[in-house]
Order: sequence, then C-alpha cells, then structure tokens
Amino acid sequence: MSSLDPAQAAPVTNVDDGLPVKLREHPTARNAAIAVQRIPRGGLVCTSLVLAAVLLPDSKGKRCDFCHRSASTSVRLQKCTGCAAYWYCGKGCQSKAWAAHHRYICKRHARWIASWDYARLPQHERLDAEMLSQIACGSARIPEGLLETMSSLLPSKHPLPTLPVLTPPSPAVDLDVPAMHQRFGNNNFILHSHLNSYAHGAYPRTSRLFNHSCVPNAVPRYVLAAESPPIMEIIALRDIEVGEEVCIPYTDPALDIESRTRGLEGQGGFTCLCKLCTWQRRVMPTLVRPDQETLLAHRPALLAYTHCRFENPPLVQDTERDYEQIPADVCIYLHESVLPACTEAFGEAAGDVEQADEALEVGSTVLAIYTLIYPPNYPQTAMHALELSKVAWNAYIKRDNSKYFRAAVWCLRTARRMFETFGREGDEGGPLAEIEQLRVLMEAEGTGVV
Ligand SMILES: [Zn+2]
Ligand SMILES: [Zn+2]
Ligand SMILES: [Zn+2]
Repeated sequence: MSSLDPAQAAPVTNVDDGLPVKLREHPTARNAAIAVQRIPRGGLVCTSLVLAAVLLPDSKGKRCDFCHRSASTSVRLQKCTGCAAYWYCGKGCQSKAWAAHHRYICKRHARWIASWDYARLPQHERLDAEMLSQIACGSARIPEGLLETMSSLLPSKHPLPTLPVLTPPSPAVDLDVPAMHQRFGNNNFILHSHLNSYAHGAYPRTSRLFNHSCVPNAVPRYVLAAESPPIMEIIALRDIEVGEEVCIPYTDPALDIESRTRGLEGQGGFTCLCKLCTWQRRVMPTLVRPDQETLLAHRPALLAYTHCRFENPPLVQDTERDYEQIPADVCIYLHESVLPACTEAFGEAAGDVEQADEALEVGSTVLAIYTLIYPPNYPQTAMHALELSKVAWNAYIKRDNSKYFRAAVWCLRTARRMFETFGREGDEGGPLAEIEQLRVLMEAEGTGVV
C-alpha cells in the first residue's frame, strides 16, 4: 500500500511537460503558466484528464454517467440494473465505469444515498461526496500523476465538513479523503456542452497550471467521445505571444465587480488584480445609474464604438480592449444595473417574432456590452450573436424585409468568426452546426452573402 498524504506529496515537476507553457514564478500567485512559444488564436494550449466528474441532477438519466454524451437517436442510455442510479450509453462505457470505480459503489449506492449523513447534505456537497467516492473507489486505476497533481494543489482556506464517502474494502492507495476534499472548493470545474452546464469535475492539471483572469486569453472546452471520460482542452482566444501568461476564467467576467470579488475571494481565496477588476474598482463607484432616456440617447455611441452596427462589416475583435479608453458616454452601459435588465428584456422579446424589432435593438445592445467586457472571441459573445442571427432570420422569413436579412447575415458572420476560435466541443451538433444550417439558408437567398 502506498501512502498519499497531500501535505507531504512530492512536488509535481512534469505537469507542464510537452506544453507551449511552462510554470514560472509569480509575484502573488503560486506560479504562472508562461507561453514559451507563440500560440495562435484557436490553438490548443493543453489537454487535461479528469480525476472525477459527476453529472448535475438535471442531467442524470439524460447523459451517460461515464462518457457524458447526451441521449439522442444515436446514443441510447440504459440504466445500471444493480443500482438503478447510473446510466450508460453502451456496454463499453458500463464496463469501463465498472472497472474504474462502480464495482465498489453499485451495490452500496441505495443505502448510501438513503443514509442521514448523505441525505442532509446540500446538493453541491452531495456531488462532492460522489466525486470523492469515485476517487476513493477508483484510486488504483486513476491515470498516473493525476492524484499526485490534485494533492499538490493548494487547499481551500475555509475548512470543509467531513462527507460520507464510499471506500473500497481494501484500498490500494491510502487516500486522505478529507485532504482531497479540501482541494475541491477552489479547484473544481463546471463542465459544459455548448455553454450549458451539466456536471462538476476535477481536472488537476488545469488547476495546477492556470491562474484566473477576468480578461482571460484562454478558455476550457470539453471533448465528449464514447468510452472515454470527458477531456478538457484549454483553447487560446487570441494569438498569445511568448512571455505572456495564459489565464482562464474561474468566474463569469460579465458579473458585476462585487459579485466577482466575493466569489473569487471566498472560493478562490485571492483578490483578482486583472486589468478589468482594477479599472472597474476605480470607475464603477463613480457611475450614476443611468435612466432609460440616457441609455437610449447614448446607444448610437455605444454601437459605433463597439462596431456593433449591422451596417458595419461583421465584428472581428482579436485584441483585448483597453478599458481606460472607453468614452464616458459608452461607459454608462457598464453600470451594474444595465446588462441584467437588457438580457432579461432580450429574453422576453426574442421568442416572439412580433417583437423582433425590440429584440434586435436590445439584443444588439447586449452584444455591444459583451464586446466591451469580454475578451476577444469569447464563447458567450459568440452564442449571443448566434441567438440574434436567429431572431433576425425568423423576422425576415415572416416579414420579408431586407433589413432583417442584413442583420441576420451580420450576426451570423460575427458568430461564425468567434465560434471558429472556440471550435468543436461538447455534444454532437451545437452552434457550429446551427451556423452551417443557417448559412445554407441565407446563401439560398443571395449568393456569397455569408
Ligand atoms: Zn458513454
Ligand atoms: Zn450500478
Ligand atoms: Zn479580475
């Protein structure tokens, strides 16, 4: 039996082997992942294997518990007859999950979740308990280095409660479960497919390598394939030059500064000093909440500054914004009250073709605000541009007015350029497939438009 005490785990030296980034000293964080070669926009920075991942309750029975692929006409799920709590897309995933950890979990699962110790837990701790059980029961078969890398991560500063965890009868590795749990809070990820969250997971290599920034130059995406647990890939949002630090977002940069700060200080245990936070901490307290009239009066300035007018060429934004340069009349749109109100109004109008004008107006305002806040080619911006394109296309089909057609084409070209950077991820289909379908429809209306 080998012993694995996270506090005494040998330092992991090879976590950056073979990558275009290397860990270097950082003035405040533990390390920084610095690019040692140029990484092009859309380029792969790093792949990361999962230590453990569990589906969110909403996704249970809708995705394979092993490979996470969604049920569809080609992916049929079958319930494990032993526990009736896990679903698999085929014999391959079932037998791999069985060998990995499920053989120690299956028969005990029903009693475990009915126990008071488990039933009293809030949902996120139930997910943690399930992940810890997978790790404890699968520790002998976890790919080499993953446990060591996870153990080498900094623990959360807040003590976490002891969770009820299933362990194998004779563990091959003497795992310190509470110490492992202590590394979950500030390190684990929310997995997504086409930007829809569906699972929690631990990806130790990514956690060890990349610091957070609210102006990240890279983002994670998840690759789903039969008989393989989901793999995380870190993708460059823009060209990254030698010597730049590669950072990923631990939180949504479009959240207001107080919420981000609270989240990062509470969960992550650090104060973000990125240029968006630095700028917002200085400027946001000076902003007065703008009324509707003021916003409308300055909307042309916002759209012109961000190049989000449908008369412009499609948006191509490959460099980070210099927040200091944003003019005062555009800045008012970054008051914390504006984006939530606009996204809500867009959500209400977007589904109703009779409200297409309102949806396009407020929707292009949201797009402009996203381009102010988010870094270039950010997937959320791309997804919103695609939504706008669909709204405009539906209005064009209904009303046959060329202004909707122009808007649909502009939004689609903008979305396509951004999504080409993020690339294929998650389930079959998704935004890239939708873009291609829409492109074919639009091309049929006018050759060479898209
Ligand atoms: Zn599967
Ligand atoms: Zn089972
Ligand atoms: Zn920040």
